[in-house]
Amino acid sequence: MAKRDYYDVLGVDKGASKDEIKKSYRKLARKYHPDVNKEEGAAEKFKEAKEAYEVLSDDQKKAQYDQFGHAGAQGQGFGGFGGGGGAQDFGGFSDIFDMFFGGGGRSRDPNAPQQGDDLQYTLILDFEEAIFGKETDIEVPKEEECDTCHGSGAKPGTKVDTCSHCHGSGQLNQEQNTPFGRVVNRRVCHYCNGTGKIIPEKCETCGGAGTVNRKKKIHIDIPAGIDEGQQIRVAGKGDPGKNGGPAGDLFVVIRVRKHDFFVREGDHIFCELPLTFAQAALGDEIEVPTVHGKVKLRIPAGTQAGKTFRLKGKGAPNVHGRGQGDQHIKVKVMTPTNLSDKQKDLLRQFNELGGNESTDEQEDNIFQRFRKAFKGD
Ligand SMILES: [Zn+2]
Ligand SMILES: [Zn+2]
Repeated sequence: MAKRDYYDVLGVDKGASKDEIKKSYRKLARKYHPDVNKEEGAAEKFKEAKEAYEVLSDDQKKAQYDQFGHAGAQGQGFGGFGGGGGAQDFGGFSDIFDMFFGGGGRSRDPNAPQQGDDLQYTLILDFEEAIFGKETDIEVPKEEECDTCHGSGAKPGTKVDTCSHCHGSGQLNQEQNTPFGRVVNRRVCHYCNGTGKIIPEKCETCGGAGTVNRKKKIHIDIPAGIDEGQQIRVAGKGDPGKNGGPAGDLFVVIRVRKHDFFVREGDHIFCELPLTFAQAALGDEIEVPTVHGKVKLRIPAGTQAGKTFRLKGKGAPNVHGRGQGDQHIKVKVMTPTNLSDKQKDLLRQFNELGGNESTDEQEDNIFQRFRKAFKGD
């Protein structure tokens, strides 16, 4: 079954602002949330909208979706978006409202599994590396579970207590008298900072956090044909989750160094080829560089400046595996400078022999128009 386009799901166009995306999702969430809509299919509609919103509201995920679409979910280390790993619950209806209206006390269970943060890493590649791809190890600074306390934050041999103020819920109820009667407000427990836990003796390695910051070697496989600004998603290599939640993802953003001779546009490679006046006029057979090695190119006699030759298949491979680009070579005729007396003499003779009387029809027209302009008719 084909997945619907996320923009279609939310009923917004590609250029929609964050606010528009949020508004649209809010509308759909109110309509289809399983807590309020028991109709058949409502849950699926809600799930679909939630997934679309999770991607389109996240700059990184949105950029990847815009570039690779749902197809980005398969193969080549472009993991899918997965809808938040294992946690496939809907989230309470009130959570959604808290999220949008910023209701001070988000009623979130501190012991519920939480997904770790996504990480971003910028990787600079040489021009050729981007074209041919490569396998490499990168060192990413990331949070890791503390080896000393195994994530509990407590000194080995001691234990973590449940917060006696909130009894582990991480929230305190506060009763308030208002003109409308008694209202119970829930706020984050300030004794345990909402964790629901008290650590009497903190682990010395991590200071009670349960995690440490460490450089982690991560092996990545860069697909051939990747280009400036594209991202590789390495699923599960972000920060670790909390309370058994899934880890976040690592996004490797690709930057590509400029090349002295080649310029890349998509899968095609462009370059300029300098030819002498004699080579262009008489024709020649020369070797031109490509990223795939030298290639023989026949320059026909009478080649004009600006003429473009195409070397089929000598560009970059398509990153999605859809064929191969070409190399486009634009001729640049170099006007000679610092001529010797003999060379000058030969060129004068050439001119007297009618050097401007080209045999090329097009060229004739240019000269005709040029002369006409002088005669003023
Ligand atoms: Zn520790
Ligand atoms: Zn507490």
